[in-house]
Amino acid sequence: MAEIHEISLKKGREKMLSRKHPWIFSGAIAGGIKAAENGALVRVVSSSGKYMATGHFQQSSIAVRLLTFSDQTIDQAFYKKRIKSALNYRKTQNLNPAGENTNCFRLINGEGDKLSGLIADFYNGLIVLQYHSYGMYHQRSSIKAAMAEVIGNHEHEIIEFVQGLDLKKVDENFPTDHFAQDGGQEVIEAGIKYLINPFRGQKTGFFLDQRDNRIFLRQMSLGKQVLNTFSYTGGFSLNALKGGAVEVVSVDSSSYASEMCKKNEQLNGLSGENHEIVTGDVFEFLKEDSREFDVVILDPPAFAKSRKKSHNAVQAYKRLNREGLKKVKEGGFLMTFSCSQVISNQLFEDTIRTAAIECGRPAKIIKRLGPGTDHPVSVFHPEGHYLKGLLVHLDG
Ligand code: SAH
Repeated sequence: MAEIHEISLKKGREKMLSRKHPWIFSGAIAGGIKAAENGALVRVVSSSGKYMATGHFQQSSIAVRLLTFSDQTIDQAFYKKRIKSALNYRKTQNLNPAGENTNCFRLINGEGDKLSGLIADFYNGLIVLQYHSYGMYHQRSSIKAAMAEVIGNHEHEIIEFVQGLDLKKVDENFPTDHFAQDGGQEVIEAGIKYLINPFRGQKTGFFLDQRDNRIFLRQMSLGKQVLNTFSYTGGFSLNALKGGAVEVVSVDSSSYASEMCKKNEQLNGLSGENHEIVTGDVFEFLKEDSREFDVVILDPPAFAKSRKKSHNAVQAYKRLNREGLKKVKEGGFLMTFSCSQVISNQLFEDTIRTAAIECGRPAKIIKRLGPGTDHPVSVFHPEGHYLKGLLVHLDG
């Protein structure tokens, strides 16, 4: 095994590792940091020098992102094994690169797939890799080669992004705009087609985490009037239309999102007569539009990006949900989400309760919602939970 740098823990911190949390914070480290390079592979040893784990070092409060607790070489074969087991797991969930009904899914969900710092989304042969750590960034050639081996006989292309890393510290030739197909990649999700463009879109191009909730909405849309706020490229809207909604209104502030929403509607052969696409601010729309709907969807971007911002975020969620609830007809439904990692399930539920109290509507929680099964969360890494949602019924 090639020599790799060693980092030692402070006395008494070994216990932390027995809980298998995949991060080591800088405060737990006794020595070895100064000599370690940003993004280097490191062995973590106890204060008495015993091997504990291997991971990627980074000069930040999360100092080491652990990859394994058993002493093994981290190379292409290691990544291949992890990616293969991630893919095999997706197949048990009916998610397959060659799927006829769905050919897009999250293939690697960071810590949930024991690959802290790496995200991989599969879009009908287009694999979008996102490196969240310098360690994963440095290992990208092994990762890409391993990915190609696992995907094997399926035709594919890989594109890469970095997320939250200082671009000055990564290769200046790192590709950022080589996605030539202007119209985007065509995918199918639960029988509905979408165009994905990772270079212009948000996240890696699509919100794959909402698949199950979109399908759920489809099943309750027959004959309904549906308001889809923060509609992005129309995921919820198209499901409502396919499910037989009589009227759908989509609202998003991004004109790119509205344009893609229209294209996706056409791609699925929908006439658009009963679909109104509004480019504008949701808060303004809720204030100014006087219509009421059978189903209202609220899927805003993360209002709280850090714990410090969580108080303001709670206020914003409360305001949004209060105004959203006002738009729901008697007997109708509110489908509401938060994708802020720092807002817990309980805090989100409390916020919706306050919103219901403020607008004086009797509301029942009839279902708790979350991401699909291609977004696994390690039990040792509760920080991996971010998307939470509630289906609320307003009766009387
Ligand atoms: N529900 C979508 C994902 C929503 S992502 C899906 O299933 O694909 C959040 C969206 O909110 C983005 O498209 C962004 O452009 C939009 N957005 C952010 N702030 C907004 C605002 N104040 N008013 C309207 N849209 C907003």
